[in-house]
Amino acid sequence: MPSPRPSTLLRVPYTDPLPAPKIIPASAGTASGAIAALVDFLSPAASNSTSKARSSLRAARSRHNNGKTLLLTGAGISVASGLADYRGTNGTYTLNRSYRPIYYNEFCASHEARKRYWARSFLGWTNLERARPNKGHEAVGKLGELGIVGSVITQNVDSFHPLSHPHLPTLELHGYLRSLVCLTCRTPYPRRAFQTQLSHLNPAWTAFLHEMLAAGALDTENPSERKKRGLKTNPDGDVDIPDAPYTTFRYPACPVCLERGRERVEVDKDGAWIEGAGVLKPAVVMFGESIPGDVKIAAEQAVDSAARILVVGSSLATYSAWRLVKRAKENQVPIGVLNIGGCRGEESFFADIPEGNTGREAVRCSESADKILPQVVTILAGMQR
Ligand SMILES: [Zn+2]
Repeated sequence: MPSPRPSTLLRVPYTDPLPAPKIIPASAGTASGAIAALVDFLSPAASNSTSKARSSLRAARSRHNNGKTLLLTGAGISVASGLADYRGTNGTYTLNRSYRPIYYNEFCASHEARKRYWARSFLGWTNLERARPNKGHEAVGKLGELGIVGSVITQNVDSFHPLSHPHLPTLELHGYLRSLVCLTCRTPYPRRAFQTQLSHLNPAWTAFLHEMLAAGALDTENPSERKKRGLKTNPDGDVDIPDAPYTTFRYPACPVCLERGRERVEVDKDGAWIEGAGVLKPAVVMFGESIPGDVKIAAEQAVDSAARILVVGSSLATYSAWRLVKRAKENQVPIGVLNIGGCRGEESFFADIPEGNTGREAVRCSESADKILPQVVTILAGMQR
């Protein structure tokens, strides 16, 4: 697979199906084999590598960073929380081929596009707010407590990692939905309070939301079930109602901009934005938007200081995540991938695995994190006793 040109802009990931993974080591093709290989990969014990040069390089690196593993997670880890992923059997790209996320420029420039975005997000929010971290996130937290994992980089915007393990540092590469930020004054604004305001500004939509909640249409993430009830959902908590009158939807202006009055903000009698400054945007990195410089640098530093990297629940289809694993490969640290289905360009990550590898040098398994990781934790915790 050819390498794309580097860019700081977040681009829409591949939507084409990826080839099935080559399982490494071959014994990791079963759940118990995958657990054993991951224990080998994550075990802090000295390497049993047959290559002395590799071992000494790794030993030097391990001294430098306490031998800890960096975890890179994606939508797959949140599937067990009831959220949809992208390429799974119930994933957005699998079931909704016409799905197209909003672009940053579109959001910033178009009042109509924002109305549509917020109307869908208004309905989708309840599901995300009710969802909770799962056993996969919990296991990650325990790997942190065991001193095995040093930090997490996640592509997810659901904030389940910081919620589940506040003491293990998490870098949210693509931002988060829990907050908004004003495009004019950059003041953050909590999403929950924003939801209450949307509710006040849009009584008819609120009635529709309550109707959908009562009908149980928002209780299921099963797209065909939801479709039957007139709803379509996307993994970023976005609900799509066919023929909904988005143009009637109202959203509030930034309260700080309104109060300061430095820049002109025009609102209606209820405080809904009409024109000017004070546009609130979700604190996620939208497609076509740059990942903030400090986040990009922090991610690169996390990769450079890691003794090994384990990808969990990501097909690395997004360039910003793929390039971090490529960087780890260039650093010659062992790479592990726990993801159902193929990953972008994975053959190059696993091109030179030493013979006799039992998981320590590389691991590739196609299992779900919430089933596998808790058992890996139990074994690793037992080894430390
Ligand atoms: Zn503002």
